[in-house]
Amino acid sequence: MSYLTLSHLEKTFGANRVVKDFSLDVDKGEFISLLGPSGCGKTTVLRMVAGFEVPTSGAISIAGKEVTRLKPNQRNIGMVFQAYALFPNLTVAQNVGFGLKVQGRPKAEIAARVAEMLALIGLSDLGNRYPFQLSGGQQQRVALARALAPKPQVLLLDEPLSALDAKVRVSLRNEIRAIQRELGITTIFVTHDQEEALSMSDRVVVMHEGIADQVGAPFEIYNRPATRFVASFVGTLNTLEAEVRDAATGRVALGGTEILLHRPLPEGRVTLGLRPEMVRLGQDGLDTGLTGVITDVDFLGAVIRLKADLGGQSLALDMFNSSHMTPPRLGETVVLGLRAADLLVIGA
Ligand code: ATP
Repeated sequence: MSYLTLSHLEKTFGANRVVKDFSLDVDKGEFISLLGPSGCGKTTVLRMVAGFEVPTSGAISIAGKEVTRLKPNQRNIGMVFQAYALFPNLTVAQNVGFGLKVQGRPKAEIAARVAEMLALIGLSDLGNRYPFQLSGGQQQRVALARALAPKPQVLLLDEPLSALDAKVRVSLRNEIRAIQRELGITTIFVTHDQEEALSMSDRVVVMHEGIADQVGAPFEIYNRPATRFVASFVGTLNTLEAEVRDAATGRVALGGTEILLHRPLPEGRVTLGLRPEMVRLGQDGLDTGLTGVITDVDFLGAVIRLKADLGGQSLALDMFNSSHMTPPRLGETVVLGLRAADLLVIGA
């Protein structure tokens, strides 16, 4: 049974259709990311769930109750924004207790809940500080505690990590996910950062021009992208043009070799996608070997990214760094091993 249901949401600003026929069923306790480039409509979807925007058409329901036209304060929702939206003149404890105070809860209940929330975010000692006395990461934890204190039915996170530096971002994403699991709270997280979306979510919705291109577990989105956009937006993808030699069995010519894809293909030419980490130097244990000439060696630390020329087409591949391996030299001719099954057909 879906807990949060978005049915055929549309949002138009003037002549601009920003969200188009967007439907999503979210289970209770699920962590869903809306992932997409700037301007694809993800924040607008989130704002409709929060009640800051009224959908042009479509419906939203939470726990079986329709909320489409309710004001934000009539919905039981907690929200965390990108910029630290804490009240600067209130202490940490007052910020966390703010929602409960507005609801007119008894003082003792507020104090107990604030203490519980501060313990949850690991800031029990900082209740008397003011926001300016906190780091960015601490401020976002307080914003999270403030959103969670009134026990909302749904938690909405709008790029809450994007203003933080890289290290804090990674630790806070683990922390948010742990708290979300502990409370079992249904969560929608908006981000344009694919690593965040893939690492934190039960399911990811990849959005493109107001449409949900694909909804799936991170592993599915990455390994079985449903559209060309998803394939190119999530992860790094080589695109290679191949000539179809036999459409029925999926035999193609690529880089001077024939490869059997065991999939029916259209006649003519196809565009194939291949992740850099699916290619190896040498053909050991792999069903296909292409010959290429190394054009670029980029040492990135854990990984060495190589580029090779396959008769006019460029192929990037990743080698894991290791003490007993020497990267190939520029201009060296190499065999590039891959599995035919790892080639994605992304266009005809
Ligand atoms: P970003 O990551 O940049 O916030 P986004 O995917 O969240 O992007 P939205 O903020 O949902 O995108 O915006 C989608 C489109 O709708 C944009 O073209 C934006 O300019 C437009 N838009 C959003 N809010 C309004 C508004 N109140 N009035 C007019 N246009 C708007």
